[in-house]
Amino acid sequence: MTERTFSIIKPDATRRNLTGKVNAVIEDAGLRIVAQKRIRMSRAQAEKFYEVHKERPFFGELVDFMTSAPVVVQVLEGDNAVARYREVMGATNPAQAAEGTIRKLYAESVGENSVHGSDSLENAKIEIAQFFTDDEIVG
Ligand code: ATP
Ligand code: MG
Repeated sequence: MTERTFSIIKPDATRRNLTGKVNAVIEDAGLRIVAQKRIRMSRAQAEKFYEVHKERPFFGELVDFMTSAPVVVQVLEGDNAVARYREVMGATNPAQAAEGTIRKLYAESVGENSVHGSDSLENAKIEIAQFFTDDEIVG
């Protein structure tokens, strides 16, 4: 089934000028970038986005990191896009990520792990709506 998922190229990756390299992995995996913009996330946006993790010990560090430099927010489209992008990203901790995945190739640590991808179709819809209007997505 054709789906849309939400992706973020995180500050550790934009800082190292890896936007194009990450996008190449995404496109080579058959996912289509149907919306994309570079933004500086506000604290309020980052806190809302990662609200599910607000009780976790790393929450403050995560919000600091996500607001520390520009990010690239994206909508990806393709067959089974949600699960497919999770495969392409690799495990949260790059030490456990499979060969060829974005996190294996580029992530620096479990916190500074280069990309975000939605974990369900339901969350993908919520996350896309947080950063994009319908007319910004051109499929
Ligand atoms: P994401 O939601 O960013 O796609 P994920 O679903 O693989 O990543 P989550 O468990 O949802 O992982 O954690 C969200 C983010 O919080 C991680 O991507 C990482 O940046 C950060 N994080 C997770 N665990 C830790 C940790 N133990 N220490 C520091 N940061 C962490
Ligand atoms: Mg997650």
